[in-house]
Amino acid sequence: MNQAEWHTQSPRDCLQLLETSPSGLGADEVQARLVTFGENRIEDTSQAAWYTLFFNQFRDFMVIVLLAATLISGLLGEFIDAITIIAIIIVNALLGFFQELRAEKSLASLKQLTAPVAHVIRNTERVTVPAAQLVPGDIVLLESGDRIPADVRLLALQGFETEESSLTGESLPISKHADIIPDPLAPLGDRKNMGYMGTSVTRGKAQAVVVATGMNTEMGKIANLIQTAEDTETPLQRRLDQLGKILVYISLGITAVVVLAGILHGQHVFHMFMAGVSLAVAAIPEGLPAIVTIALAIGVQRMIKRKAIVRKLPSVETLGCATVICSDKTGTLTQNKMTVQEIWAGGKTYHVTGQGYRPEGEFIFNGSGVRPEKRPELARLLQISALCNNAELVFDENIKDWHCHGDPTEGALLAVAAKAGYSLADIAQQLQRVEEIPFDSNRKMMTVIVRDASGRHTLLTKGAPDVLLERCTHILLDGKSVPLTKALRQQILEVNHALGSEALRNIGVAYREIRSLDSIKRMADPEVQLTFVGLLGMIDPPRAEVFEAIHLCKNAGIRTVMITGDHQVTAEAIARQLGIMTAGGLTVTGAELNNMTDKQLAKKAESICVFARVSPEHKLRIVKALQENGQVVAMTGDGVNDAPAIQAADIGISMGQGGTDVAKDASALILSDDNFATIVAAIEEGRGIYDNIRKFVRYLLSSNVGEIITMFVATLFGFPLPLLPIQILCVNLVTDGLPAIALGVDPAEKDIMQRKPRNVKESIFARGVGTKIITRGIFIGICTLSVFWLTWHNDPSQLQKAQTMAFATLVMCQLIQVFDCRSVEGGIFSRNIFGNVWLIAAVCSSITFLLCAIYVPALQIIFKSVPLHLFDWAVVLVAAAIPTFALTVRRAGRRVTRARLAR
Ligand code: ATP
Repeated sequence: MNQAEWHTQSPRDCLQLLETSPSGLGADEVQARLVTFGENRIEDTSQAAWYTLFFNQFRDFMVIVLLAATLISGLLGEFIDAITIIAIIIVNALLGFFQELRAEKSLASLKQLTAPVAHVIRNTERVTVPAAQLVPGDIVLLESGDRIPADVRLLALQGFETEESSLTGESLPISKHADIIPDPLAPLGDRKNMGYMGTSVTRGKAQAVVVATGMNTEMGKIANLIQTAEDTETPLQRRLDQLGKILVYISLGITAVVVLAGILHGQHVFHMFMAGVSLAVAAIPEGLPAIVTIALAIGVQRMIKRKAIVRKLPSVETLGCATVICSDKTGTLTQNKMTVQEIWAGGKTYHVTGQGYRPEGEFIFNGSGVRPEKRPELARLLQISALCNNAELVFDENIKDWHCHGDPTEGALLAVAAKAGYSLADIAQQLQRVEEIPFDSNRKMMTVIVRDASGRHTLLTKGAPDVLLERCTHILLDGKSVPLTKALRQQILEVNHALGSEALRNIGVAYREIRSLDSIKRMADPEVQLTFVGLLGMIDPPRAEVFEAIHLCKNAGIRTVMITGDHQVTAEAIARQLGIMTAGGLTVTGAELNNMTDKQLAKKAESICVFARVSPEHKLRIVKALQENGQVVAMTGDGVNDAPAIQAADIGISMGQGGTDVAKDASALILSDDNFATIVAAIEEGRGIYDNIRKFVRYLLSSNVGEIITMFVATLFGFPLPLLPIQILCVNLVTDGLPAIALGVDPAEKDIMQRKPRNVKESIFARGVGTKIITRGIFIGICTLSVFWLTWHNDPSQLQKAQTMAFATLVMCQLIQVFDCRSVEGGIFSRNIFGNVWLIAAVCSSITFLLCAIYVPALQIIFKSVPLHLFDWAVVLVAAAIPTFALTVRRAGRRVTRARLAR
């Protein structure tokens, strides 16, 4: 059958045509279909093949010129030179190739980590599988916040709405149904019984059958049109690319001057040309973009180990600039392991003992245990808590404890009901659920309608007590529903307040007998005229590591703001425990927010520590207000409605465990453990990565300035070439590759979380890096040239030795200063020299290469070097140390003077 016409078939016919059933496919059938239809993926045509990456290395203009010049020199008889230069070019290209390949692989594995999953029924069991493993005929379960994983025909649904703008351009949610749509040519937007891959569920639940996967989906068909490369370049990478281009022109200009000056001073034209081209190749930091990518990719891998998954690479840079973290409370700052501790029902307060989700504990009233079944209000409250519930408690053999599948709030309610001997299974035998209005952070309520054996319906609701009370007209007292007086209402609010100030999270419970189910179903808001039964207070202890993380944030100049749907008093109590609420700090509720203009909010925003009883929609206003004040905002969220705020934040963060697909898609960072402390770890890593990029940019550019100065000054003064083309290329190979990469993985400095956040607009050359590049470069040039000149001037017949000395000095200068580059502010001794083993290994291998080039006879011929004696080495090492140590001494001197002045 034409796969585009599924909407014209009834659900039953679709199942039949797809040879499947509501209990799902068996494992063998899935395997067979996977072979037939392939994986459920949109093919990515944007990825470069490995050979393209390899040949790209030779596309650089200067490399082509060098290759051409080398060929000419080969033809002119300089075989050894030509072969060596080509070998160096190839090694260089291989290095670049492997760097880029590694970078690509890391990026690809990142994509894997954030690959979507799907909830399916297979062999009658509900399982979660990678979305790529879906096949036509699979039965999928969809709910609010899910990204639809394949093209599906809806079978059964409850209040199901989707957002299909990625496919149809329609940004308003579309209400769906499961009925037949007879017109085979109905446009996609009108096929309301279908769900399409890549669109998202904004409301409700549905069961559906997969009708098309991968490139056969509607999204797959237009994939080639919409495949825009994900934004994987960071602003810094873009700026460095631009800088690279500018450096090309500068290097070319200087090279041209060097060549001209050399020729004017009587040097051989072709030799000068070769030297010029080699200098240009060495001086242009062509490896920079790849090393930046590697540093980012390795840093990102380190973040993964610390449970932070980066979805958008540019956010790695922004992390270091974050000034405010707006965090959800439940599950992020707290453990999301709830246990009911206090219950108020029928005018009495009961304390409940027991821990976690274990169904063991007692109900204590006035110091002695009571039997809930003897207390009608308490019994009713516990039954409703168990019925108006979608969670499940299971005993985990591995940890020998009970844990909760589903919403932990509901898990806690199941556990407390079980302590009284009420299980959902038992109650459900007498009362059958016929309707559900799922919990929603805006409404802050959940409702079910149940039918008893005699066909009578009751509406059961649980939700935020203050919200629920507004909908109650009666209260259950002494087993009877009586009018809710003002005094009683006040009493309940006081209990709610008292429990909240002990940091308990409260849930109210209410019901209503229904006469006509149909009239209730027609109501948009059926929770009215309810009878209040009571409320439950549950603890949700703060995560232990959050205390330390918030302290760390304070030192790092980052403010933490709590944003929660929970009650003001509960939120404040936890904020105080965690140190989020500072002296003079304010709390603003959602209701107060509604009465504030954006301007008023922005004015107050800096002193607000807690936003309580807010809806996800408020979050966007909060982000904008803080941004208006120049803050760089990190914002967490998990639901569909959080997505706009996550998107608008400078760093949008979603929850790996409790987050919806929509929130994850909008976010730049996913916390795989939903933990606030992970955000702080990510910020620390982000700062470290940026520091490392600055370190090797400083290292590479100052080395290049050194090389250019050496050649430039020598030719200006009419000296012979201090370095031969082959030596320049060799310096480039030895010093630019491995040590620079090793700097890219340098461990972060100890004070990294004691610095204030970096300004977003700050240049990479700020805070002294630019000056250091120039001064170090000049020093390196002068020292190298001095060694050359002294040796050559002493004995002009020893030109080769002078060049070897210059060659060794230049390499050693760079290998010494690489250690200095490890510290952003301090000098070479501010950190443990052996703190980066990769750097030690890179430097050792570079020194070995240098020694081979000087002492191995075969290489002496190639590199035109002569062996150096001990005294020569003493000269080389002293000269090579000068650029680093002279400036270290100068810095120490300045520090002493500053300390004296301060005294
Ligand atoms: P955060 O926004 O920090 O995650 P939160 O989880 O408390 O905080 P919501 O989930 O919006 O925020 O909950 C708001 C209120 O709704 C809670 O204080 C509670 O009273 C009530 N509530 C929470 N979960 C449920 C649920 N499953 N059913 C009914 N009411 C609930």
